[in-house]
Amino acid sequence: MRIAVLLRDRCQPKKCSHECYKYCPRVRMGDETIVLGKKGIPEISEILCVGCGICIHKCPFDAIKIINLAEELEKEIVHQFSENGFRLFRLPTPQEGKVIGLLGPNGIGKTTVINILSGNQVPNLGSFEAEGNWDTVLERYAGTEMFNYFSKLANETIRPALKPQYVDKLPRVISGTVSELLHGVDGEKNADELIERLDLDRIRTRELKKLSGGELQRVAIAATVLKDADIYFFDEPSSYLDIYQRLNVSKVIQELSREKQVIVIEHDLAILDFLSESVYLMYGSEGAYGVVAQPRSARNAINTYLGGFLEKENIRFRNYAITFEVKPPRREWPAGPMLEFPELTKKFPSFSLSTGKGTVHYGEVIGMVGPNATGKTTFVEMLAGKLEPDTGKVPQELELAYKPQYITIEHDCSVREYIYIELGSEAESGFYRAQVEGPLAMNKLYNKNVGDLSGGELQRVALAATLGKSADIYLLDEPSAYLDSNQRMEAAKVVRRVVEKSSSSALVVDHDVYFIDLIADSLMVFTGKPSSLGIALGPFDLRTGMNRFLKNLDVTFRRDKETHRPRVNKNDSRLDREQKSSGEFYYA
Ligand code: ADP
Ligand code: SF4
Repeated sequence: MRIAVLLRDRCQPKKCSHECYKYCPRVRMGDETIVLGKKGIPEISEILCVGCGICIHKCPFDAIKIINLAEELEKEIVHQFSENGFRLFRLPTPQEGKVIGLLGPNGIGKTTVINILSGNQVPNLGSFEAEGNWDTVLERYAGTEMFNYFSKLANETIRPALKPQYVDKLPRVISGTVSELLHGVDGEKNADELIERLDLDRIRTRELKKLSGGELQRVAIAATVLKDADIYFFDEPSSYLDIYQRLNVSKVIQELSREKQVIVIEHDLAILDFLSESVYLMYGSEGAYGVVAQPRSARNAINTYLGGFLEKENIRFRNYAITFEVKPPRREWPAGPMLEFPELTKKFPSFSLSTGKGTVHYGEVIGMVGPNATGKTTFVEMLAGKLEPDTGKVPQELELAYKPQYITIEHDCSVREYIYIELGSEAESGFYRAQVEGPLAMNKLYNKNVGDLSGGELQRVALAATLGKSADIYLLDEPSAYLDSNQRMEAAKVVRRVVEKSSSSALVVDHDVYFIDLIADSLMVFTGKPSSLGIALGPFDLRTGMNRFLKNLDVTFRRDKETHRPRVNKNDSRLDREQKSSGEFYYA
């Protein structure tokens, strides 16, 4: 089975010379393998196409994918958006009593799965010419496990509740205070109890539009849990939350799953592992097609994902395996220290920060871990000389490049133009091209308008615009947000290489433990009381830093026997108790 896909967000018929049409050997022989439709957009006939692949390489915008698929998939198509549009094959089966996870790259169809299972999209089974129709769906699924589920969806006797991916957008559609929203949810559950559990008490009377991302995330999760529904979907519940909150939210979702069906999309693998019991991996080609693979136990699914090879399906989706070090590697710093800073303090009207003394080396990536709002940005601004400490003096001024946690782009322009606005002539440097543009696959984004980018795409653009600048210190605040697990691993490599090759250093705030493990040479540990007091110590070597950080959280990690990846221990399990008493919270 051969599919021809046109990535509509890349196709720019006004800016190209219709290379696909011009060079297609079949068209040249006089048939209609490609016809130019409305506004010059090519329509590719899958029946006539011989799969030579010439159009793929000729298209200047990388907008065409011609892909050979296993024949058996043909019968299992669930939905197709348009003639040369995205196709989804197979579906996960919702189940009561356990959290089901969906894991796969961005653009592989996870949201489409949720839209179908929540009844927002009636699947058309590949007949894109007309709207999907329940009778046809029920006929196709007769005698399968999904039949009952679809019958209930068709009769509207199943009530779905969805926590959307982009919580930042909620204040635009919902107004009022946290308490008004949560007490207004139509359901019988106790809002006050959940407000307490999710640490929302302090912000009860606050307007939604005044909330931080992490607060909005917890409010959105609470509002979803409070709904009286039969199936609950959580699309990336961890973004903007610190690790303590991620684990806390996971427990709330797990409890919900004992009585209800729950499906979660999550890219923080330590959290997905902790949260879900069964995981469906999704593979395919971004924007072209996605296949839901067989369910696996969470452990097996994540190990398989890291290995990059689906054995049962015989599909390789990455040409290397992602591995973790059981012992932190020893780093030498031949280029010596970039900065030695003394104890520093800074007081604002309602927040004060104090730090210990420390050293930043050339080429070092320092992970900054700890709760939100304990002074990480304030600290780095003092280091870079942007903010004068009240006590203590930073010896020299350093050039700082900063990627904030919440990314907004004020311009209305293409990504290419935006990169030029941010980087100027550096956008043409060999360094940017080789170390940033290539690895972050910026070429695929350049022609898009900055206003049309998805969260993950915006994150890549912001990373490129920051790492492309020459600087002494890069401050990256939650670079993993909205990136899929694969992109997180790639981004970690990009940051490490930029810092090593340019003899700079990076301070990276993030809450995804796997990401921190892959990116950081050392750790600064922040503690205190969010929004009022911050205490920062370090940088420490990874073992000391992880132990201090996880001790504050009261969480230990064991190692997976097969892949050595860290896994959260159950609180008070034998290993948890042993590790706590020996003081080895991470590298046990
Ligand atoms: P994921 O959630 O895994 O990131 P999505 O389900 O959002 O993936 O999207 C998969 C692909 O489906 C997208 O790349 C896009 O090409 C296509 N798609 C999604 N929604 C629509 C739509 N309404 N119309 C046409 N194509 C769509
Ligand atoms: Fe034409 Fe070859 Fe492209 Fe098929 S793959 S549309 S035959 S150029």
